[in-house]
Amino acid sequence: MDGDLPVVSESPFGPDVPVRTGRSFDVPVAGESPFGEPRRSLRKKAGGALAGAGLLAAKFGAYLKGAVLLLPKLKLLTTAGTALVSVAAYSLFWGWQFAAGFVVLLFVHEMGHVIQLRREGIKASTPMFIPFLGAAIFARSLGDNALAEARVGLAGPVLGSLGAAVVAVAAVVTGSDLLLALAYVGFLINLFNLLPVLPLDGGRAMAAMAPWMWFVGFAALIPVAIFFHGSFIIFLILIFGGREVWRRWKLRKTRSLEQAAYYRVAPRHRAMVAAVYLGLIVALALGMAETHILASAGHSFRSL
Ligand SMILES: [Zn+2]
Repeated sequence: MDGDLPVVSESPFGPDVPVRTGRSFDVPVAGESPFGEPRRSLRKKAGGALAGAGLLAAKFGAYLKGAVLLLPKLKLLTTAGTALVSVAAYSLFWGWQFAAGFVVLLFVHEMGHVIQLRREGIKASTPMFIPFLGAAIFARSLGDNALAEARVGLAGPVLGSLGAAVVAVAAVVTGSDLLLALAYVGFLINLFNLLPVLPLDGGRAMAAMAPWMWFVGFAALIPVAIFFHGSFIIFLILIFGGREVWRRWKLRKTRSLEQAAYYRVAPRHRAMVAAVYLGLIVALALGMAETHILASAGHSFRSL
């Protein structure tokens, strides 16, 4: 049950990733001891080693910077490349067809976020896949205010659920058990991502509805963790989610003008976010129940 991760995707590593440049390393000039004159031999050696390490670090920094600058040009390659690696990884446990379908469903979900981010005027990377953790996109921010954050957050499950629904219809039309199982898992991962805790999509929606729900969602993770037998993903969400909830809550409590402006949402808009959020949960639960029943009933759904 490896969802669209939560984690990376929607950002713990996203906006917070410091991009190190060569300059941020302190590089002693080669041959010049950073320790001064006396007791030359040992210090000179140590200084030389340090200088070497510094140069290496600087080179590595420059290399990293180059790689980061190159990333946008390689984005299709990284999306396709990481998708293939993920399909291969999931194939170790499932058949390759199911693995491929699963990665496509993750892609559709992530593209929901990407499309909405672009509509908000925020540049976003195309999705990258992380085996067993899901998928990630990278963006500078998730919107200028809580309402935009909720729109970006909900766009993933909206498109992702539509994708799973298309697979469900295809399953009924073709009578394919594989597609039916895929649709079920598709509904499940989208529902899972609606848990009202950061950094999941449901937590993004809560920013515009009721941020205190982050704590409810956090508490709800504990029974979920037990249900999934201490899954590594839940563990990551507990750590990153806990950190992010705490950080944002503290920031919010400063009651600065900036924070107040960020969380100001008109009641009409709050109601719209709530309607989409709850509507998605109901639709996904129905979708799961339906595909589950169909699957347990064998092929009898052909007569439906
Ligand atoms: Zn998402």
